[in-house]
Amino acid sequence: MQDCIFCKIINREIPADIVYEDDQVLAFKDIQPIAPTHLLFIPKKHIPTFFDLQPEDSHILGDLQLAVVNVAKDMGLTERGFRLVANCKKDAGQVVWHLHYHFLAGRPFQWPPG
Ligand code: 5GP
Repeated sequence: MQDCIFCKIINREIPADIVYEDDQVLAFKDIQPIAPTHLLFIPKKHIPTFFDLQPEDSHILGDLQLAVVNVAKDMGLTERGFRLVANCKKDAGQVVWHLHYHFLAGRPFQWPPG
């Protein structure tokens, strides 16, 4: 998608600190981290929000979450764990219209979130 900043990262049109890539998924460091580790996991397919997922996209969510687990294992987080967050549309505060999970780790997190 031409005007999507995350598609530009996928296509290497703008730089990002990429930590994981496979055929379906890219993960990179968030430019404004809110935790010692703050990654974004995105599908390579441009999907603006969860509401835009189609039946044929069902594997994408599994691909994303398996990528998360693999990265978390590689980072030695099996004991301390991580938080996975997806903001969907206005009330959740979504600002980039390319579906993504925030992967947060390295400190304790509050519940409920703000
Ligand atoms: P949202 O509120 O849409 O869930 O969060 C989007 C996230 O993307 C924000 O945490 C923001 O810091 C991050 N972000 C926005 N633009 C860029 C960028 O150009 N590069 C990187 N690495 N992260 C970005």
